[in-house]
Amino acid sequence: MSFQKFELHEKILTGVRMLGYQKPTPIQLQAIPPVMEGRDLMGLAQTGTGKTAAFVLPILQRLMEKPLGRIRALIIAPTRELSEQTNEAIGQLGRKTKLRSAAIYGGVSIHNQINRLRGNVEIISACPGRLLDHIERGTIDLSHVEVLVLDEADHMFDMGFLPDVRKIVKHLPQKRQTLLFSATMPDDVRSLAMDLLQSPVNIQIGHTAPVMTVEHRFYPVQMGIKTALLKDILEKTEMESVLVFTRTKSRAKSLAMQLDRSGHKVISLHGNLTQQKRKQALDGFRDGRYEIMVATDIAARGIDVTRISHVINYDMPSTADAYTHRIGRTGRAAKTGDAFTFVTGDDLALAHSLKRMLGEKLQYQNVAGLTSEIKTGSSKKSATDMKSDNRRNSFARPTQTRRKPKQRSFENANRSSWSQRAQSAA
Ligand code: ADP
Ligand code: MG
Repeated sequence: MSFQKFELHEKILTGVRMLGYQKPTPIQLQAIPPVMEGRDLMGLAQTGTGKTAAFVLPILQRLMEKPLGRIRALIIAPTRELSEQTNEAIGQLGRKTKLRSAAIYGGVSIHNQINRLRGNVEIISACPGRLLDHIERGTIDLSHVEVLVLDEADHMFDMGFLPDVRKIVKHLPQKRQTLLFSATMPDDVRSLAMDLLQSPVNIQIGHTAPVMTVEHRFYPVQMGIKTALLKDILEKTEMESVLVFTRTKSRAKSLAMQLDRSGHKVISLHGNLTQQKRKQALDGFRDGRYEIMVATDIAARGIDVTRISHVINYDMPSTADAYTHRIGRTGRAAKTGDAFTFVTGDDLALAHSLKRMLGEKLQYQNVAGLTSEIKTGSSKKSATDMKSDNRRNSFARPTQTRRKPKQRSFENANRSSWSQRAQSAA
C-alpha cells in the first residue's frame, strides 16, 4: 500500500514524496494509524526501519489541524546528533506545512535557542539536559504539549537519563499522547516504560535482534594487536564508509590519529569535542569527506548515515543491546552491511551470547599473524576451530543471565537501584 491510505494532509504527502519514500515500512504501516487516532504506543522495530517518520508524520498531521504558535509536540532523544537529525527530518517531511520545529541541546549558545523559542515553534526535538535548563530558566513553555515522544526509549530510562526525563515529564500536561520508540526494550525497563503510557498499543516488528541485512564477523585478537588488525582489514576490504567504535573517548581520538598517520581519511566523534567539532565530524562523514569515523557510543543510537557499509567494534560494546544499536548504523533502509567485532579474552561472555543470538549470521574470522587463539581452560582453540565449534564449550566463562525485571515504577525508580547496564563512556 502507499502513504495515500493514511489520509495524511496533501502537504505532508508532498514531503514524503520529496524524500522518495514509495511505500510505508512495516513499523510505519502498523504505528501510524493508531498514533493518528491519538493512542499511546510502544513501537519496537529494528534499526534503520523508519521509526522517525512513524512518529513525525502523525505529529505533523495532528498539528496542522489546529492553530499554530505553541509547542505542541516534544521529542526527546539521547544525543545532540540525534536531536538534530530528527529536527531535520521534521523539516524535510513537513517542508510544505508551515509547522516550525527547533532542536534543543547543549554545547551551543542557549541565547540563540531562547530567541528561536520566542519565535513560535510547534515542535521541539530535544536532549534532556538542555531542555531542563530552559524549563528552569522559564524560557520554554511546555504546558500545551499534546504529544511526547521518547526516541531510543529504553536508553532514556537508563540511570543517566531517567532523573531528567522524570523531571521533564512533570512539566507536561497529564493529558497527552505518549509514544515510545526503540529497537530494543530490555525487560527491566519495560515496566518503567509502560508506566508512562495509558492503554497503549504495543507494536513489535521482527525480533529485537540486530537487523537481518547485516553480516557479522568476530575477530579473536589481543588488545595490543587490534590497531594492526584494523589497518589490515581497512587495507584489504572494499568499504564505502566505515564507522569504528571504541570504548573510550581517548581511544577514539588516538585511534583516529593513528589511522590518519597511515593515510586514511578519518575523523573522530566523542564527547570531549566541542559541539562545533562534533558537527563538523558528522557532517564530513555524512558527505564522504571522511571515509572512516572513529566514535564512542554517542554514535551508537539513531544516527542515520545510509552509506555506512561497515561497522567495526574495535572494542566490544557493553551489552547485546548496545551491539544491536551500534551494528544498526549499517544495513539501514533495507541496504546490506557488514559488522566486524574484535573479541579479546575479556569479551568472551558477551561474544558467546551474541553467537547464540545470531547463529549462522555470525562467523569467526581468522587473519594469519593477527588474530589469536582463544584459551578455554586448559585447551586452546584457533579462530578456525571456533568457526566449526561455536558452542558453549568454546567459551570458558558463563554468559551473564539478564536480571529478572524488578517492580519499579517510572515515578519511584531510584538511581542507585539501577543495574550497571550500558552507561556509555561517551
Ligand atoms: P530508525 O529510527 O528505525 O532506525 P530512521 O527513521 O532513521 O530509522 O530511517 C532509516 C532510513 O530509512 C532513513 O534514511 C529514512 O529516510 C529512510 N526511510 C524511512 N521511511 C522510509 C520509507 N517508507 N521508504 C524508504 N525509506 C525510508
Ligand atoms: Mg531512530
